[in-house]
Amino acid sequence: MKIGVLALQGAFVEHEQMLGRLGVETVEVRLPQDLAGLDGLIIPGGESTTIGKVAVRWGLLEPLREFAADGGPLWGTCAGLILLARRVRDAVPGQPLLRVMDITVRRNAFGRQVDSFEADLEVPALGERPFHAVFIRAPVIEEVGEGVEGVARVDGETVAARQGRLLATAFHPELTADERFHRYFVDLCAAR
Ligand code: GLN
Repeated sequence: MKIGVLALQGAFVEHEQMLGRLGVETVEVRLPQDLAGLDGLIIPGGESTTIGKVAVRWGLLEPLREFAADGGPLWGTCAGLILLARRVRDAVPGQPLLRVMDITVRRNAFGRQVDSFEADLEVPALGERPFHAVFIRAPVIEEVGEGVEGVARVDGETVAARQGRLLATAFHPELTADERFHRYFVDLCAAR
């Protein structure tokens, strides 16, 4: 099992550390050839406009779309979720996106009320214990297409979803000590 973490900008080191604790080999992905032989890929949080711009500059956008089209498991956290989404509201004009997951998201959706917050989420897929989630200038998932299931909600808003082997979370599981979301993704990768 070898999982890549897109290492262009943002919180990629924390994902690597979490996967390391689960005994999973990780690869920092910066160039198209780094995708070879991966069982899955995490797109971290950070700033989606920056990650998108750097991905274009390094010729990664199309290879990432192909990785998804070939059934490669992808997990986007926060900015990574924005990059996965097919439709993004409040995107910067021309912002590069992968557009591989059938969801509509709104960037910085909690921004006006509160920049960052933490909440205990009910996540049935992870069992009974609530998942303590850290939100940082987070997006929300406003609409999901057919074949997309909501995985977690907060205040009536969908903040995690799954479409087959694509997983998206508006929050940052890599910034907590709770390994359950990473284990969930590793299981998705193993089932490929
Ligand atoms: N607001 C950021 C964006 O639009 C995402 C924030 C994050 O990843 N924590 O890219």
